Amino acid sequence: MNTTQPNPQAMTKTCQRCRQLFEVEDLTIGGINLGAYLEHCEPCAGHLEEAAIQARHTEEARVRYQSAVPKLYQLTDTNHPDYPREAHDLGQKWAMGQRPANSFWFGIIGAPGEGKTRVLSQVLKRMGYQGQVPEWTTSTRFAWNCENMFSDEHGKKARFHLDRFLRAGVLVFDDLGKQRWTARVCSQFFDLLEYRNSQMLPLLWSSNDSLDSLGNSIPEGPRDAIIDRLRGNSLILEL
Ligand SMILES: [Zn+2]
Repeated sequence: MNTTQPNPQAMTKTCQRCRQLFEVEDLTIGGINLGAYLEHCEPCAGHLEEAAIQARHTEEARVRYQSAVPKLYQLTDTNHPDYPREAHDLGQKWAMGQRPANSFWFGIIGAPGEGKTRVLSQVLKRMGYQGQVPEWTTSTRFAWNCENMFSDEHGKKARFHLDRFLRAGVLVFDDLGKQRWTARVCSQFFDLLEYRNSQMLPLLWSSNDSLDSLGNSIPEGPRDAIIDRLRGNSLILEL
Protein backbone atom coordinates (compact mmCIF):
# COMPACT_ATOMS: atom_id res chain seq x y z
CA MET A 1 0.00 0.00 0.00
CA ASN A 2 1.32 3.40 -0.94
CA THR A 3 0.64 5.71 2.01
CA THR A 4 2.03 8.79 0.29
CA GLN A 5 -1.03 9.09 -1.96
CA PRO A 6 -3.19 12.07 -1.04
CA ASN A 7 -6.43 11.08 0.56
CA PRO A 8 -9.10 11.99 -1.96
CA GLN A 9 -11.87 11.85 0.59
CA ALA A 10 -12.79 15.07 2.34
CA MET A 11 -12.96 14.66 6.08
CA THR A 12 -15.64 16.18 8.28
CA LYS A 13 -14.93 17.13 11.90
CA THR A 14 -16.69 18.90 14.74
CA CYS A 15 -15.21 22.26 15.75
CA GLN A 16 -14.16 22.17 19.40
CA ARG A 17 -15.25 25.77 19.88
CA CYS A 18 -18.56 26.27 18.05
CA ARG A 19 -19.49 22.57 17.73
CA GLN A 20 -20.34 23.03 14.03
CA LEU A 21 -19.24 20.48 11.49
CA PHE A 22 -16.49 21.62 9.17
CA GLU A 23 -14.72 20.16 6.17
CA VAL A 24 -11.05 19.43 6.64
CA GLU A 25 -8.89 20.10 3.65
CA ASP A 26 -6.51 17.38 2.65
CA LEU A 27 -3.10 18.49 3.89
CA THR A 28 -1.29 15.21 3.40
CA ILE A 29 2.46 15.54 3.83
CA GLY A 30 4.67 12.47 4.03
CA GLY A 31 1.67 10.20 4.23
CA ILE A 32 0.10 12.01 7.14
CA ASN A 33 -2.99 14.19 6.70
CA LEU A 34 -2.21 17.12 8.98
CA GLY A 35 -5.80 18.27 8.52
CA ALA A 36 -6.85 15.40 10.77
CA TYR A 37 -5.24 17.29 13.65
CA LEU A 38 -7.27 20.47 13.13
CA GLU A 39 -9.72 21.04 15.98
CA HIS A 40 -11.35 24.30 14.94
CA CYS A 41 -13.22 25.58 11.93
CA GLU A 42 -11.58 28.44 10.05
CA PRO A 43 -13.52 31.35 11.65
CA CYS A 44 -12.91 29.90 15.13
CA ALA A 45 -9.22 29.32 14.43
CA GLY A 46 -8.95 32.98 13.37
CA HIS A 47 -10.80 34.14 16.46
CA LEU A 48 -8.58 32.08 18.77
CA GLU A 49 -5.43 33.35 17.10
CA GLU A 50 -6.65 36.93 17.51
CA ALA A 51 -7.44 36.28 21.18
CA ALA A 52 -3.98 34.78 21.72
CA ILE A 53 -2.32 37.86 20.18
CA GLN A 54 -4.45 40.11 22.38
CA ALA A 55 -3.55 38.09 25.49
CA ARG A 56 0.14 38.36 24.64
CA HIS A 57 -0.10 42.15 24.23
CA THR A 58 -1.90 42.44 27.57
CA GLU A 59 0.76 40.34 29.26
CA GLU A 60 3.56 42.41 27.73
CA ALA A 61 1.87 45.62 28.91
CA ARG A 62 1.49 44.19 32.41
CA VAL A 63 5.17 43.28 32.62
CA ARG A 64 6.26 46.71 31.33
CA TYR A 65 3.96 48.47 33.80
CA GLN A 66 5.24 46.43 36.73
CA SER A 67 8.85 47.10 35.88
CA ALA A 68 8.30 50.86 35.47
CA VAL A 69 5.95 51.77 38.32
CA PRO A 70 6.86 51.74 42.05
CA LYS A 71 5.07 48.92 43.85
CA LEU A 72 3.21 51.30 46.18
CA TYR A 73 1.42 52.86 43.21
CA GLN A 74 0.85 49.58 41.42
CA LEU A 75 -1.28 48.59 44.40
CA THR A 76 -3.52 51.66 44.13
CA ASP A 77 -7.05 50.87 45.27
CA THR A 78 -9.22 53.03 43.06
CA ASN A 79 -12.27 52.23 45.22
CA HIS A 80 -10.67 53.53 48.41
CA PRO A 81 -12.83 56.32 49.94
CA ASP A 82 -9.85 58.72 49.97
CA TYR A 83 -8.96 58.10 46.34
CA PRO A 84 -9.68 61.20 44.19
CA ARG A 85 -12.27 59.66 41.94
CA GLU A 86 -13.07 62.75 39.87
CA ALA A 87 -9.43 63.31 39.03
CA HIS A 88 -9.17 59.63 38.15
CA ASP A 89 -12.09 59.79 35.74
CA LEU A 90 -10.70 62.90 34.12
CA GLY A 91 -7.30 61.25 33.75
CA GLN A 92 -8.83 58.17 32.17
CA LYS A 93 -10.77 60.29 29.70
CA TRP A 94 -7.62 62.19 28.87
CA ALA A 95 -5.80 58.88 28.29
CA MET A 96 -8.55 57.80 25.91
CA GLY A 97 -8.12 60.96 23.86
CA GLN A 98 -11.07 62.95 25.25
CA ARG A 99 -9.12 66.18 25.80
CA PRO A 100 -8.61 69.65 24.39
CA ALA A 101 -6.48 69.89 21.27
CA ASN A 102 -2.75 70.20 22.04
CA SER A 103 -3.16 68.94 25.61
CA PHE A 104 -0.97 65.93 25.04
CA TRP A 105 0.49 66.35 28.54
CA PHE A 106 -1.45 65.89 31.76
CA GLY A 107 -0.55 67.66 35.02
CA ILE A 108 -1.92 67.43 38.55
CA ILE A 109 -1.25 70.06 41.18
CA GLY A 110 -2.10 69.53 44.83
CA ALA A 111 -0.87 69.12 48.39
CA PRO A 112 1.01 65.94 49.39
CA GLY A 113 -1.25 63.03 50.29
CA GLU A 114 -4.10 63.99 47.98
CA GLY A 115 -3.46 61.06 45.65
CA LYS A 116 -1.91 62.90 42.68
CA THR A 117 0.68 60.23 42.01
CA ARG A 118 -1.84 57.44 42.38
CA VAL A 119 -4.04 59.04 39.73
CA LEU A 120 -1.04 59.36 37.41
CA SER A 121 -0.17 55.70 37.98
CA GLN A 122 -3.63 54.76 36.70
CA VAL A 123 -3.39 57.02 33.66
CA LEU A 124 -0.02 55.43 32.89
CA LYS A 125 -1.57 52.00 33.26
CA ARG A 126 -4.32 52.81 30.77
CA MET A 127 -1.82 54.15 28.23
CA GLY A 128 0.44 51.15 28.76
CA TYR A 129 -2.40 48.82 27.85
CA GLN A 130 -2.97 50.94 24.75
CA GLY A 131 0.55 49.95 23.72
CA GLN A 132 2.75 52.86 24.83
CA VAL A 133 5.97 51.94 26.65
CA PRO A 134 5.77 53.47 30.14
CA GLU A 135 8.59 55.07 32.10
CA TRP A 136 8.61 56.64 35.54
CA THR A 137 10.79 59.14 37.34
CA THR A 138 10.61 61.44 40.32
CA SER A 139 12.05 64.91 40.34
CA THR A 140 14.71 63.72 42.80
CA ARG A 141 15.73 60.75 40.68
CA PHE A 142 15.86 62.88 37.55
CA ALA A 143 18.07 65.44 39.33
CA TRP A 144 20.41 62.70 40.57
CA ASN A 145 20.83 61.35 37.04
CA CYS A 146 21.55 64.84 35.68
CA GLU A 147 24.12 65.55 38.39
CA ASN A 148 25.85 62.23 37.76
CA MET A 149 25.66 62.06 33.98
CA PHE A 150 29.38 62.76 33.56
CA SER A 151 30.68 61.01 36.65
CA ASP A 152 33.12 58.12 36.20
CA GLU A 153 31.23 55.91 38.59
CA HIS A 154 27.58 56.47 37.59
CA GLY A 155 27.78 58.34 34.28
CA LYS A 156 26.90 55.44 32.01
CA LYS A 157 23.88 54.41 34.08
CA ALA A 158 22.72 58.01 34.54
CA ARG A 159 22.86 58.76 30.81
CA PHE A 160 21.04 55.50 30.09
CA HIS A 161 18.18 56.52 32.38
CA LEU A 162 18.02 60.07 31.06
CA ASP A 163 17.74 58.70 27.55
CA ARG A 164 14.91 56.39 28.64
CA PHE A 165 13.03 59.34 30.20
CA LEU A 166 13.55 61.39 27.06
CA ARG A 167 12.19 58.80 24.62
CA ALA A 168 9.63 56.87 26.70
CA GLY A 169 6.31 56.23 24.99
CA VAL A 170 4.69 57.82 28.02
CA LEU A 171 6.57 59.32 30.97
CA VAL A 172 5.47 60.04 34.54
CA PHE A 173 7.45 62.89 36.09
CA ASP A 174 6.48 62.96 39.76
CA ASP A 175 6.94 65.75 42.31
CA LEU A 176 8.09 68.67 40.19
CA GLY A 177 9.56 71.47 42.27
CA LYS A 178 10.31 69.21 45.21
CA GLN A 179 13.82 70.62 45.59
CA ARG A 180 15.73 73.51 44.16
CA TRP A 181 17.38 72.39 40.95
CA THR A 182 20.85 73.33 39.77
CA ALA A 183 21.34 74.95 36.37
CA ARG A 184 22.38 71.60 34.89
CA VAL A 185 19.18 69.86 36.01
CA CYS A 186 17.05 72.74 34.70
CA SER A 187 18.72 72.67 31.33
CA GLN A 188 18.34 68.87 31.07
CA PHE A 189 14.69 69.17 32.03
CA PHE A 190 14.14 71.83 29.40
CA ASP A 191 15.78 69.57 26.80
CA LEU A 192 13.46 66.77 27.85
CA LEU A 193 10.40 69.00 27.48
CA GLU A 194 11.59 70.28 24.12
CA TYR A 195 12.18 66.78 22.80
CA ARG A 196 8.88 65.42 24.05
CA ASN A 197 7.11 68.49 22.72
CA SER A 198 8.63 68.14 19.28
CA GLN A 199 7.78 64.43 19.14
CA MET A 200 4.35 65.00 20.73
CA LEU A 201 5.17 62.37 23.36
CA PRO A 202 2.84 62.22 26.37
CA LEU A 203 4.06 63.44 29.75
CA LEU A 204 2.21 62.98 33.03
CA TRP A 205 3.47 65.27 35.76
CA SER A 206 2.62 66.19 39.32
CA SER A 207 3.57 69.15 41.47
CA ASN A 208 2.84 70.26 45.02
CA ASP A 209 3.00 73.87 43.92
CA SER A 210 1.22 75.89 41.30
CA LEU A 211 3.21 76.54 38.14
CA ASP A 212 3.86 80.10 39.29
CA SER A 213 5.53 78.97 42.51
CA LEU A 214 7.43 76.32 40.58
CA GLY A 215 9.75 79.16 39.69
CA ASN A 216 11.15 79.01 43.23
CA SER A 217 12.83 75.69 42.58
CA ILE A 218 14.02 76.53 39.08
CA PRO A 219 16.80 79.08 38.92
CA GLU A 220 16.90 81.68 36.16
CA GLY A 221 17.73 80.45 32.68
CA PRO A 222 15.09 78.29 31.06
CA ARG A 223 12.60 78.88 33.89
CA ASP A 224 9.99 80.84 31.96
CA ALA A 225 10.33 78.58 28.95
CA ILE A 226 9.82 75.51 31.15
CA ILE A 227 6.70 76.95 32.74
CA ASP A 228 5.34 78.09 29.36
CA ARG A 229 5.83 74.62 27.89
CA LEU A 230 4.11 72.91 30.80
CA ARG A 231 1.23 75.35 30.74
CA GLY A 232 0.87 75.32 26.97
CA ASN A 233 0.84 71.56 26.46
CA SER A 234 -0.92 70.26 29.56
CA LEU A 235 -4.41 69.67 30.69
CA ILE A 236 -3.89 70.81 34.31
CA LEU A 237 -5.98 69.62 37.19
CA GLU A 238 -5.83 71.18 40.65
CA LEU A 239 -6.80 68.93 43.55
ZN1 LIG B 1 -15.90 26.86 15.01
